[in-house]
Amino acid sequence: MELHVIDTGYFKLDGGAMFGVVPKSLWSRHHPPDERNLCTWAMRCLLVVSGNRRILIDNGLGDKQEAAFFAHYQPHGDATLDGSLKAAGFHRDDITDVFLTHLHFDHCGGSIRWNSARDGFEPAFRNATYWSNEHHWQWATKPNPRERASFLSDNILPIRESGQLRFVDVGRRSAEENLFIPEVFPGFGVLLVNGHTDAMMIPFIEHKGRTLIYMADLLPSVHHIPLPWVMAYDTRPLLTLQEKSDVLELAARQDHVLFFEHDATHQCCTVQETGKGVRLKETFPLSAL
Ligand SMILES: [Zn+2]
Repeated sequence: MELHVIDTGYFKLDGGAMFGVVPKSLWSRHHPPDERNLCTWAMRCLLVVSGNRRILIDNGLGDKQEAAFFAHYQPHGDATLDGSLKAAGFHRDDITDVFLTHLHFDHCGGSIRWNSARDGFEPAFRNATYWSNEHHWQWATKPNPRERASFLSDNILPIRESGQLRFVDVGRRSAEENLFIPEVFPGFGVLLVNGHTDAMMIPFIEHKGRTLIYMADLLPSVHHIPLPWVMAYDTRPLLTLQEKSDVLELAARQDHVLFFEHDATHQCCTVQETGKGVRLKETFPLSAL
């Protein structure tokens, strides 16, 4: 199995919203905000090449929204999805599977693009199966008022209309705590978590004798490792806290590698148990594995 980092650039989100109840005097030491209180975050996707499967986990913001949307989130940086795929030796038409951890716009916006006539949308990965799960799909397509600004119908509904949508079989009810689905693909299991949004899927990937966990929005950055550092975006922050605790304790015990989608500086880290709880051990790029 080969893994490739697929950077799709940076964007900005409110620092306070990213750290919940943590005071600005603390989080701003690690994430100095700009004059609008915004901090910079990565949208770092991961390409998993396994046999003849090329699985892309998440795909960034995309480019189809209006100028006002982009003025708000300020995408920037040199990296693009196509450029990063090319650097890894691939083209978007090579992607066989688009695995969507959840359907918030910063994770799935690249799924759908304008067609060449710019009068409608089409799948941006024409040869791929798009993976979600039924519970999350229902949640995202009938959004509650709090998450409505994150679940954009232009990102979501055309996936179903394309006929390329498939659901991961989660078996039992997805609201059960820490439901793990092994071998969704060979060497690629999924943990269902429900604190950030309903039924977000966290990939666990076997690579070079280690387990790499694609943290998505369960742990946006190294600075979210202390348990109370939970995003205000989360619908059930106390559940996130428990889910984070379970995954961090497991990762500390088994020396798993945590891979960050949103940390602007760090790609990967390991963690260790300390007297104060699980804390950062070391950070490193994926290429160091
Ligand atoms: Zn996110």
